[in-house]
Amino acid sequence: MSYERALRCRECGREYSLTPIFSCEFCFGPLEVDYDYDAIARATSREHIAAGPKTLWRYAELLPCDPAYKVDLGTGFTPLIRAERLGARLGLERLWLKNDTVNPTWSFKDRVVAVAIARARQFGFEALACASTGNLANAVAAHAAHAGMQAYVFIPQDLEQGKVVGSAIYRPTLVMVEGSYDDVNRLCTELSGSRQWAFVNINVRPYYAEGSRTLAFEVAEQLGWRAPDHVVVPMASGSLYTKIWKGFKEFARIGLIEEPHTRMSGAQASGCSPITTAYAAGTFNFVPQKPNTIARSLAIGNPADGYYALKTMQETNGGAEMASDDEIIEGVKLLAETEGIFAETAGGVTIACLKRMVKSGHIRRDEETVAFITGAGLKTVEAVVDRLEAPLRVPANARAFEATLAARLAVTTGA
Ligand SMILES: *Cc1c(COP(=O)(O)O)cnc(C)c1O
Ligand SMILES: [Zn+2]
Repeated sequence: MSYERALRCRECGREYSLTPIFSCEFCFGPLEVDYDYDAIARATSREHIAAGPKTLWRYAELLPCDPAYKVDLGTGFTPLIRAERLGARLGLERLWLKNDTVNPTWSFKDRVVAVAIARARQFGFEALACASTGNLANAVAAHAAHAGMQAYVFIPQDLEQGKVVGSAIYRPTLVMVEGSYDDVNRLCTELSGSRQWAFVNINVRPYYAEGSRTLAFEVAEQLGWRAPDHVVVPMASGSLYTKIWKGFKEFARIGLIEEPHTRMSGAQASGCSPITTAYAAGTFNFVPQKPNTIARSLAIGNPADGYYALKTMQETNGGAEMASDDEIIEGVKLLAETEGIFAETAGGVTIACLKRMVKSGHIRRDEETVAFITGAGLKTVEAVVDRLEAPLRVPANARAFEATLAARLAVTTGA
C-alpha cells in the first residue's frame, strides 16, 4: 500500500506513470513524486506516527514505495539534541543538532537508500547501483547485502579510506573511476541506459530523493509538532536541502503542523561552492566548478538540484554560506569538543557556515535553529588526525604519569 499518485515534471507539470524514469520527455525537467495528500491525511495522524516503529518507517504513508518491500536496517528516527554549549559559543539561544551520524552506515544516505531499495524491489529490479561521493556507496552496498541483492557501486578515485573500506566490506562490485564525482555521474547516467540496474540516484532518483523528507518529518515531530525558525543544511547536489523544505510543507498540508515559516539556509565548502556562489551573485544560473575540498561528500561541481535550492532560498528568505577547509576542520573539532558529536567533514561545513551566519547577523540569536549533522567522523579521520592534541605518553607508573601531566599543564596554561 502506498499513496503515490504520479510523477510530475517540476518544469512543465506534465505527469507520468510511476515507472523508473527521472526526466521529462518534453522539456527534460526533473520528475518528482506527487501523492494523494487527502488520502494520506486520512490514513495517518500524530498518534498513529507516534505509535509507529522508531525508524523512518513511522512515516510509511508519506513514502513513495510499498512498505511490504522494505529492507530494514533500522534507519532514521535519529536524535534531535539540544546544543546548549555550542549554542552559547556561537551566540544562539536555542540551537538543536539533528544527529544523523548514528544511522546504520553512519550517514543520512541510509534514508534515501531505504526508500530507493524498497521501490527498486517493487519495480522488480535485481541489482542496485549508484554514483556516489562516498556515503551513498556505503548505504547502497549495505542495504543490498542485507537484501541479498547485487550491488554496483561507482566512486571517484580520491575518496577517504573510511569510505572505500566502508563500501568494500559489504562486497559490492566496487568501481573506482578515474575522475571526479561529476565524471562518475556521467558514466553511470550512460550505463543506466543499457543496464537493467536500479541506479538509486539516476533512474530511480525521484523516489530516492523523497527519503530525505523524513529528516524534516522527524525534526517537526521531535520539536513537538512544529517547524523551527531556521535550519542549516549541507548541500552537494542540493537535493537534501530542497527536500527538507518539501517535508515541512507536506506536514502542514496534511494537518500535522502549522504552515511552516522556516528560513532555509544552505552550507557548502569554498572548494566546491557552485550553489553558494550563485546565491551570493544573485543569479539562478550557477557555474559548474572543479571541486577541491576536504569535504568530499559534498564535492559535486555540477549540482542537479542547484537551481531548485536557489529558488528555495528565495522563497524562504534563507541564504547560503561557504567555509574554507581550515574552518571546516575547526568546525568538526568545535562540535566534538562542545557537544560530544564526531562528525565528518560535511558536519564541519555545517558548523562553520552556521558560525559565519550568526556572526554576519543572517541568523538572529533568538531564532530557534536546527543544524543537520549528516555523516560520522570516523569515515574522514584523515581530515583531523594531524590537528589533534597528541596523547600523553607514559611508562606504566604513577610518578611518571604525574610528572608528565604536570608538564603538559605547564605548557597549556603557559605557567
Ligand atoms: C550526500 C550528502 C549530503 C547532501 O547531499 P545532496 O546531494 O545535497 O542531497 C550531505 N551530507 C553528507 C554527509 C552527504 O553524504
Ligand atoms: Zn517537463
